[in-house]
Amino acid sequence: MASHDSPLHGHHPKTILIDPLNSILEARENRALLKSMIAANGLCSISLTLNIPGYPKSNPLINNFFRNCLQDFNYFLKANLIVIPEQDALRGCDAAGDYYFVPCNPGNLSLSIIKQYCEDFEKNHPLGRFIDADLNDWEGNTISSGKLKICFFCLERPAIDCRRENAHEPEELRAFMFPKMEAYNRKQGEDEIVRLLATYASKAILTEIALTPKPGLVDKFGNGSHRDMDFQMFLDSTSAILPWFERLVVKGFEFDEGDLTLALPVIRSIGLRMETAMNDVTGNINTQKGIVFLMSLSLFAAGQCFSRNGKFDSEDFREIIRCICKDIVKKELVDSATTLKSNGSKVHLQYGFGGARAEAESGFTTVFNFGLPQLTGIEAINDEVLIKCFLAIASRNGDTNILHRSGPEILAKFQDLCNTTLLDFNDKNYYAVIDYCKTCNISPGGSADLLAITIFVWSVINTNWENK
Ligand SMILES: [Zn+2]
Repeated sequence: MASHDSPLHGHHPKTILIDPLNSILEARENRALLKSMIAANGLCSISLTLNIPGYPKSNPLINNFFRNCLQDFNYFLKANLIVIPEQDALRGCDAAGDYYFVPCNPGNLSLSIIKQYCEDFEKNHPLGRFIDADLNDWEGNTISSGKLKICFFCLERPAIDCRRENAHEPEELRAFMFPKMEAYNRKQGEDEIVRLLATYASKAILTEIALTPKPGLVDKFGNGSHRDMDFQMFLDSTSAILPWFERLVVKGFEFDEGDLTLALPVIRSIGLRMETAMNDVTGNINTQKGIVFLMSLSLFAAGQCFSRNGKFDSEDFREIIRCICKDIVKKELVDSATTLKSNGSKVHLQYGFGGARAEAESGFTTVFNFGLPQLTGIEAINDEVLIKCFLAIASRNGDTNILHRSGPEILAKFQDLCNTTLLDFNDKNYYAVIDYCKTCNISPGGSADLLAITIFVWSVINTNWENK
């Protein structure tokens, strides 16, 4: 034991001197023992370790890098049909650093083929020069390919020579490796966040579409107050806009201007492409223009939130959206009303409601104050919870789809019915809302969009990002 060899042992109990070289030798002996234990069962083994010069051999950065590499390695082995009993894997961290050993049943594969796979993994991994993926035979001996690896630092001589002669200072090597490992870890983390946020956006939109029955809206059983669209068209149009979701998050990650209003054209340039894709599959029918605007903003803002804080924070998310959409109602509905003549600007001129733009400019007030409270404490969403959530939103939302088609009196009556149904929730009351929409031929599409945003935000809030 290193501490026993220390001259201070027994005299100064508070001081424990660890001789790193000695502990590493001991760790290496232990590892050889592990390999021979696997070999004793008649199996060869595969190991993954890192080449870390100097001391310590592991720290949180190195350990995180190792875990990412191990995940890559496990997928790589499985993809190449190399059978490993994951439950028998030995992993840990000792004085020699992070390690992973797993028995391997070669099956029909020869050891030289498996060895070739291990080399391919190192060769194709972006930081494979820092990694040792080895195959150990039935006696526990590491199989060598006999090929000389070139030193990743000087790129001139065989790595084994540089190491034997201590050609490079360990500190110099560590300063070269650590930033690369850190960037790799960050990229892995970002990829996972991007993927998850895009998944949540898709889930939110599809969940809203599939919710059945809904008042006035297209659902699984009918087309509500719409003659020109149906359920399949919503699936087609969602599939058409979905490929842009990840890109929006990435744009949010990358955006580093101080002035967030400059983000709006960035988001719009993608949003317009989504609208074109939507029009292509629907034959120019506007199924999802509203949700394209709101979800694009949400994905971008969530990405920006993670790049600023490394985590999701609701207040920060709302503030980012407010800043991106600062004065958007004035700029786009008031000042441009005479030239644009959109339904939104007409409704705003006539009734003072700003629709999706006003909701965004307020930092999603309806979503956070009325939609989300309905989902608080819910572990898994279901139809009843979602209908209540929809009613809470619809009872407060000045839905421009209804205003444009039918005017303020019908909107007020509709909001009132939604509120009554929310307070006394039963089938009879809910079907009264559905019947009212049918009779008046109205469709609360704006509220449906806000329901989808609520589901998205709820999913993001309910994720344990620490583990990502
Ligand atoms: Zn070298």
